[in-house]
Order: sequence, then structure tokens, then C-alpha cells
Amino acid sequence: MRVLLTGGAGYIGSHTALTLLEAGHDVVVLDDFSNSRRESLRRVEQLTGRGVQVIVADLADRAAADAALQDADFDAVVHLAGLKAVGESVAQPARYYRTNLVSTLNLLDIMRDKGVDRLVFSSSATVYGDPQTPRIAEDHPVGLGLTNPYGWSKAMNEQIIRDVQRAWPQLQTVLLRYFNPVGAHPSGRIGEDPAGIPNNLMPFVAQVAVGRREKLAVFGDGYATPDGTGVRDYIHVMDLAEGHVAALERLSPGVEVYNLGSGAGASVLDVVRAFSAASGRDIPYELIAPREGDVATSVADPAKANRELGWRTTRSLDDACRDAWAWQSQNPRGFNTQT
Ligand code: UDP
Repeated sequence: MRVLLTGGAGYIGSHTALTLLEAGHDVVVLDDFSNSRRESLRRVEQLTGRGVQVIVADLADRAAADAALQDADFDAVVHLAGLKAVGESVAQPARYYRTNLVSTLNLLDIMRDKGVDRLVFSSSATVYGDPQTPRIAEDHPVGLGLTNPYGWSKAMNEQIIRDVQRAWPQLQTVLLRYFNPVGAHPSGRIGEDPAGIPNNLMPFVAQVAVGRREKLAVFGDGYATPDGTGVRDYIHVMDLAEGHVAALERLSPGVEVYNLGSGAGASVLDVVRAFSAASGRDIPYELIAPREGDVATSVADPAKANRELGWRTTRSLDDACRDAWAWQSQNPRGFNTQT
């Protein structure tokens, strides 16, 4: 297939581009580079020996998106483009809703105009709210008790896609609910390159290990978890990327939903220990108050994706730490410093 990958220069996008190319698909990336770098795609081209067509446009700008995609040729879309910082979404709700919802609406219109009826959408386990269940399956209610506009924008996008599909029965869509993507390509040539202070645990830990930050703040040790710190289902970004390819290759008319997770939980302190072992560095940390909106535990039941997509995670948390360290140690300032 020739796949339009929106947000394809970002962290998940670059790994998905690489995995699609290696699976024999062609890739057209649409990105506005507001939070990503062209260098990531140059490295994908180096790693795969294949070319990537790049279209620079903001999908939320209808006129720009129309002009940019008018002559583009693709049979399917993997839609990753969007804003993703939870805290920022609380401070700038209108910007988050405008960007994340309008870009999906524009994309669906353009797909309809062009007769492209295959879509894989990047959703999030955050749509489950605070589920109070050890492992979350896809039939868990969505949109209950969400605490931030980012999470709401994912839940609303899911609903938009469901309603559009009902009015357009040939539309083939999969909603992928990601748990916590971590790690990097094992070459260490591409990886997560957050702007400013990382919001997420593993990039923060990686920057502490490399000496860019002094210590980690652990958000809360009073949760009802084995060591009191938050438990998450960390999924290697290469496993996540393979999940997109599996979903794309098994699309059929309708809307299917899959959790992409490992099914295993790790605490904040488990991650600190694993990263310290992988990097051979101390990770100093201090326990501070919980972060508002955080849940105690979020772990996937990935049985449906295992069964129906023939996909499962094959990489461990230790693998993810090793690969994130390869990326961080070879590129201490992300894509900025290395050529
Ligand atoms: N966390 C932490 N310190 C940080 C960042 C995150 O203790 O600087 C914790 C957070 O409370 C949660 C886990 O690490 O328990 C994963 O957080 P992250 O932001 O990576 O992902 P989330 O699950 O919130 O989407």
C-alpha cells in the first residue's frame, strides 16, 4: 500500500514509517514539523535505504491541507498528527480541541473526496479514564472521568470516526489505543526528542542518566500498587509500530478497536531500576506529591489484538531501556546536535 502517515516525523511516526517501509509499503509523510524534525525522516531513509515523500502542511488548516494533498496519491491513512501534552492541554484547551478535532475532520473530508477509505487512528488508553481494573479491555466504557482536554480530544475523535463511518459504510477504520510507548529503534539513530522539559517518564529518566537533568521527581508513592508508585504498561515503540502495520493490513469495513500494550505493568521505580541497569548510570530521584490527574494503574488486556491482528509485543522493558539509552547516549541533545 501507499500510506499517508500524518505526524510521520514524530516519535511514533518515525518508527512507524520505518516499519511500514520495511514491510514493503510506500510512505508519504504529512507533518507541519511543529514538534518534530525532518532529520528523523532522513535517518529513516538511511536505515531503510528507501525514500519517504514529505509534505509540509498543517492538517488543521483546511485550505493548506487541501492544497497539499490535492495531487498526493495514497490508498490508506495512518493518522498520528496532533498535540499530545496533557498538562499543556489543560492550559490551552481551545488550541488542543481545535487542532486535534479539526485535523481529523479535514482528513476525513479529504479522504472522502479522494475515495480513500482505509484509516488507522492513533488513540490512547487515556480514553478509559480511571478504570479501577487490573487489565483494561476494549469494551471498557470510554470517556468517563477524563481529566484533561487531550484525553477528551482522543475520545471525541473516536466518536467522530464512528459517526462518519456510519454514514460512509465502506470506510474501514481501526482505532489503536496506545498504552505507554517507550524505547527507540535499536540502532539508536531515531528516538523520542521532546521539546523542553520532558513530560513523560522515560525521556526524563534518559536525560537524568545522560547528565542533562539532575534528578527525577517521582510523582507520588502512596498509590495502591506494590511499591506505592504509579504502574503503567510500557510498550516498546517498535512493537507499537508493528501494531500499526498489522492493523493496516487487516482493515475491513467498520470500526475496530485494539489496545496496543504488553499486558504487563511496571512501576516508576521499576523503570528507574531497569534504566539504571541498561545505562550503567545512577538515576537520582526524589519522591514528591502526586501529579494531578494521574491514575494508580493502567495496564492493557491485549488479548483482542493478539488474537485478531496476530500481533503481540516481543520486546521487554529492559529492551526498551537499552534502546532508549542507545538513542539518548548517541544523541544527547536529540536531533539537534548530530548530523
Ligand atoms: N512520572 C513520574 N515523574 C515524571 C514523569 C512521570 O513519576 O517526571 C510517573 C507518572 O506519575 C506515571 C508514570 O510515571 O505514574 C508514567 O507517566 P507518563 O507521563 O510517562 O505517562 P502517562 O501514563 O501519564 O501517560
